[in-house]
Amino acid sequence: MISNISYLLKCPVCGAAMQTDPDGRVCRCVGARVHCYDVSRSGYLNLTSPGDGAGDLKAAVKARTLFLSNGYYEPLSDEINGILKDLDAKTVLDAGCGEGYYTNRMGTERRVLGVDLSRAGIDAAAKSAKQSGSGAAFAVGSLFKLPVSDRTFDAITNLFAPCAEAEFLRVLKPTGKLLLVGAGERHLLGLKELIYDNPYLNPGRADLPTTMQLLEHRRLTYSINVKGREQIAALFSMTPYYWRTSNVDRHKLDAAETLETEVDFDIFLYGKGQSK
Ligand SMILES: [Zn+2]
Repeated sequence: MISNISYLLKCPVCGAAMQTDPDGRVCRCVGARVHCYDVSRSGYLNLTSPGDGAGDLKAAVKARTLFLSNGYYEPLSDEINGILKDLDAKTVLDAGCGEGYYTNRMGTERRVLGVDLSRAGIDAAAKSAKQSGSGAAFAVGSLFKLPVSDRTFDAITNLFAPCAEAEFLRVLKPTGKLLLVGAGERHLLGLKELIYDNPYLNPGRADLPTTMQLLEHRRLTYSINVKGREQIAALFSMTPYYWRTSNVDRHKLDAAETLETEVDFDIFLYGKGQSK
């Protein structure tokens, strides 16, 4: 719920702190000009500023929701939650949370805010938070201009989303940690074998932090069995190769009723290091 975390937010226009009205419908800043933001019907705030751009569209959000709701990536979600528990993170920012699958599973014992540029994603995330009673709050906003105050979070999770290192450094507490996840080299190799004659290994994330301190790198690998064309198509549409694959190659997937593939996640944990 937004009212639980509004003290962590800052006004995207003037940078002042924010507070929610007692009825929970409006969030307003404490700056001289008092900027107001309506809480949407599904319960999120739109804290974008002009020029922030747009995020994933409805169709992409729908495909991801369909795929993730089957639990294929639940072990990754459990792994993330285990790390957050070990860190004793009381306040967590999920930067680039999409439709909020991981965010809404982060538990009710901590304050969790999911931020994403996709309005469709945040709307789906806020709705599912209401349904599940997850307690997580959501805001539409840019990762590169996060609508949150300095040094407020114990942990940031950055799962398959762009790494905005400078902003992450700004909003993490001095002892805060960044938990970053990307596709490992063998991620979805089985899917690529169906499409390409010579499937290549993934190169790994190119945008890892450069000034933060790497504390730990672990890998999580297991295999999944994706059932049905709709699920396989949804998984494919979530990948970066979706856009780079020719129509001829894409149609190779149409015949597949099931897909057995490895999943391979690179999990990195960073501290703030020298810079504070
Ligand atoms: Zn303001």
